[in-house]
Amino acid sequence: MNPSVRLIPLGGLGEIGLNMMLVESGDEIIAVDCGLMFPDDELPGIDYVIPDFSYALAKRAGFRAVVLTHGHEDHIGALPYLLREAALPVYGTPLTLALVAARLREHNLLANADLRPMRPRQPFRVGPFGIEPIRVTHSIADGMGLAIGTAAGTVVHTGDFKLDEKPLDGETPDYRRFAELGEQGVLALCSDSTNVDRPGHTRSETEVGHALAGRFAEASGRVILATFASHIHRIQHVLNLAEKHARKVALLGRSMERNVQVAAELGYLRLPDGVIRELEDVVGLPPERQVILSTGSQGEPNSALALMAAGEHKYVQIAPGDLVIISARVIPGNERTVGRVINALYRLGAEVLYDDNAFVHVSGHASQEDLKLMLNLTRPRYFIPVHGEYRHLLGHARLATSLGLPLERVFLVEDGTGVELTAETARVVPGYPTGRVLVDGSGIGDVGAVVLRDRQLLAENGLVAVSLAVDRQGTVVAGPEIASRGFVHMKENEALLEELRMAVVKALADRPPGVPFDREAMGAQVRSAVRQFITQRFQRKPIVLPTILEV
Ligand SMILES: [Zn+2]
Ligand SMILES: [Zn+2]
Repeated sequence: MNPSVRLIPLGGLGEIGLNMMLVESGDEIIAVDCGLMFPDDELPGIDYVIPDFSYALAKRAGFRAVVLTHGHEDHIGALPYLLREAALPVYGTPLTLALVAARLREHNLLANADLRPMRPRQPFRVGPFGIEPIRVTHSIADGMGLAIGTAAGTVVHTGDFKLDEKPLDGETPDYRRFAELGEQGVLALCSDSTNVDRPGHTRSETEVGHALAGRFAEASGRVILATFASHIHRIQHVLNLAEKHARKVALLGRSMERNVQVAAELGYLRLPDGVIRELEDVVGLPPERQVILSTGSQGEPNSALALMAAGEHKYVQIAPGDLVIISARVIPGNERTVGRVINALYRLGAEVLYDDNAFVHVSGHASQEDLKLMLNLTRPRYFIPVHGEYRHLLGHARLATSLGLPLERVFLVEDGTGVELTAETARVVPGYPTGRVLVDGSGIGDVGAVVLRDRQLLAENGLVAVSLAVDRQGTVVAGPEIASRGFVHMKENEALLEELRMAVVKALADRPPGVPFDREAMGAQVRSAVRQFITQRFQRKPIVLPTILEV
C-alpha cells in the first residue's frame, strides 16, 4: 500500500480563529498551531473558546510536537490548555516563542515547557516529518509558512500570510523557496482564506507608514494611536515618527508594554533613544509633544482607549485638538463597541481616524491576486483552503478552480473532516471529534449548551427565585420568599410581590390530601404557578428557581 498522510483540521476551517491542524502519518502526529477564538455575544460570560484536543490526546504516544506559524492569539492562545494535558515540544520562531513564554508564565507552565526555536530555511525532523519554515509576511513579525515532508509527499501550509514586498524589517516573503517546492512537487497546499473576498493585492505595511507619517506631520496637538499589541511593525512606525517629530511616547495597556519589551529585547523592535517615557511624564508635556500608544482598538470595555472615551482615565483626558487614530481592523462582532468608543471620542472634541474614514491600516492577509500567486508558485496536486468561515473557504476553492485546478483536487472541508492523501490519491475522512471548548475563568469545558442556554435566558428574561421551608409532611412553615434579578424591581412592586406569593400559596394548598410529600413535585408545582402568573401578567419567561428547604 502507498504511504499516506492525513490532514485533520481541529479548528479554523469554518470560523475565523481557533486555528489548529493535525498532520498524521501512521500513528505519529504533529499539530500546526494551537489557537483560541474570542467569544461573541452568543456566548455570555465565556473568556475564550479553544479546540477539542481529544483526538490528539487519545493518540498521545505518537503526538510529537506543536509547530507554530506565528505569535497571534488565534494560533498560540490555546497552547497552555494543551500543554497542561500533554507536555509537548513546541517549535516556533524566536518572537513567537517569546510571546508563548509570556502566556505560559501566566499559567505557571513555563518552567516545564520545552520551547524549541526554529528559523527559516533550516529544516528539522519531528518523528517521521521533515519540517522547513518558510518566511512569509503578516501583521506580526517573524511569521512562517511550513513545508512538511511526509512519506506521501510535501504538504505546504502557509500559516497566515500576505505578500508584502516592502515589509518594514526588509524580510520579504520567500517566493523563491515556495517556487522551488513547486518545481519539486507539492502534494497539498493549505492556504490562508481570510481575505479571499478582496480583489487585487494587499497593500504594503510601508504604505501605512507613509500615511501615518502624513498624519503626524499635520497633527498640531496630541496623537493617540490604538493598535494591536502584537503589531510590532505598526508600533515601530509610531516610535520612528515620534522620534522624527520630537514627541515622547507613553505605552498604555499591559500587553502593549510586555510586547514592546519582548520585541525590543529580541531585536525585532528598535527603541529610539529616550522616546518611550512614563505616562505621568508624557501627559505633563505640551500636547504637540505627546504620543499615547494604546491597546483597545476593539473597544474592549476596560481598555485604556475605552476609559479615555468614557472620560474615566486617570491621566488622559481627551480634549479638542487631540487626534485619535485607530490603526487596526475591527474584528467582526466588535463593530458596535468600537462605534460607541468613536462616538464618545468625537463628543469630547477629538478628531478620530479609523479604517472607514481614513487610510490608517492595512490587512495582514493576502487578497485574491496574492492567493493566486501562492497557488501558482506552489502548484499543488491537492488544495485545501484553511483559515476562514465557510464562505471564505468556498471563495478560495473557487479561486483555485478558476486557475485550472480540477475540482476533484480541491477539498472544501471544515473542522473535524480530514483529508487522507497518498502520492496520487486523496479522500475525505469525516468524523474526527471537534468542537468549541469554552473556557470560563478556571473552568475548561464545564460550561456546556445547557449552561449557555441558561445564561441567555437570564440575560433576556431575568430570574425569579422562590424559597420556602416545609416540615416533614410538606406543610409550609416559612415563606414563600420571592427574590428576582433582571425581571422587575421588587422593591417598587410590593403589591405584585404579594400577589405572586399568594399565587404560590394557593397552588400549594391545592395539593390533594393523602398524597405523600415529594420535594421535587412541590418544586415543579411552585415553578408552574410562578410561570403561569408571570405569563398572564407580563408575557415574559424568566428563569424560575424554586428552593424548598425541609426543616
Ligand atoms: Zn495571524
Ligand atoms: Zn490567524
